[in-house]
Amino acid sequence: VTDLRWGAATDVGMVRSNNEDSLLVASPVFAVADGMGGHAGGEVASNIAVATLKAAFDGDDGSHTRDALAEAVRRANEAIYERASTDPGLRGMGTTLTAVALVDEDGDDVLAVVQVGDSRAYRMRDGELEQLTDDHNVAEEMVRIGRITPDEATVHPHRHMLTRALGIQPDVEVDCFGVTPFAGDRYLLASDGLMNEVDDAEIARTLRRLDDPDDAAQELVHLARSGGGRDNITVVVVDVVDDDDRAAKASAAVAASPVQSRPVERDIAEPPPPAAEPPPRPKAPRPSRFTFKTVVFLFLLIAVIGGALAAIGFYARGGYHVGINDGEVVIFQGRPGGLLWFDPTLKERTGLAEADVPPAYIPDVRDGKEFSSLEDASRYVFNLQEAAVAMTTTTTTTTAAPPPPPPAP
Ligand code: MN
Repeated sequence: VTDLRWGAATDVGMVRSNNEDSLLVASPVFAVADGMGGHAGGEVASNIAVATLKAAFDGDDGSHTRDALAEAVRRANEAIYERASTDPGLRGMGTTLTAVALVDEDGDDVLAVVQVGDSRAYRMRDGELEQLTDDHNVAEEMVRIGRITPDEATVHPHRHMLTRALGIQPDVEVDCFGVTPFAGDRYLLASDGLMNEVDDAEIARTLRRLDDPDDAAQELVHLARSGGGRDNITVVVVDVVDDDDRAAKASAAVAASPVQSRPVERDIAEPPPPAAEPPPRPKAPRPSRFTFKTVVFLFLLIAVIGGALAAIGFYARGGYHVGINDGEVVIFQGRPGGLLWFDPTLKERTGLAEADVPPAYIPDVRDGKEFSSLEDASRYVFNLQEAAVAMTTTTTTTTAAPPPPPPAP
């Protein structure tokens, strides 16, 4: 049996007026959720997230699985999304969720970790602090695809803009992996209100210094408040106090093996070890967090701009005009001279030479005579042709057929 002990603390911080973070300590499941969205949205979203996890592990019979945890996270996403789409006051709300749960895997205890957003799970083992989860924000995603360096990410303007969160889309991609709990391991779950104010080195020192998990959690919150407390701060500390001699057995296995330097984690793509000295986070004034409102706003902005462009395009492409192309009168679709990048396109040739157009019509045709329909444009061209014929006929009459000589007396 794996035994855990835990402590937790949450605080509104020094600046915000309400605490939109939620936490869950309901062994064997622990979580932090950092909600966001106007009015009560953030609180509601983070509350639904932890309540859904709690319900999934209620009456736990020790047979829960990693998949069940991930499934509970997806249900939480659906519940928040549903609520946000039916309650106008909660539209756009969302939340991060970082959780660990002791689950059963082939008869072994495994600590399952789930992650959506930019709250974090850390593990302290042998005095070393290691970040287990990826941050789902724009800057970190850019690091992962190699566009910017981790150093650049710490000052990237979009480091607070989330790429994933619960409640925003009908479906959500959930990071889920398992780690083997060893006695002496200390797990830390925290909302970004901690990491933004306290660097990893100080977090590690505090976790090493204070043995009691509740003391450690309280102290971390205190440090974040002292650091400025610009956001809500939530911390959950979970210690593995007994692991059924798993560590001892693993050590024996390690001693017997010339290759392995430490117990092998099961079934987990371990995150790369953090840089020896994580770069200190800048303490300078930082932009306020980009929230879902921002994301929603950007989407709306894009939609509005897209709509405007479509309208302009519709307008630009909607009409017709009669103009000149290579000395020939033609009908164009579009506005004379084009509009923005919507150039008029040749719609119909008429076979009428510019030279044959009656002079009275030339200025109009050269400028482009506009019509709302192709039919109207065609009628105009037809009139032009009639006029041209009339003019030619008149000319012919007057030049080629001189008046008959006066009859002889
Ligand atoms: Mn936060």
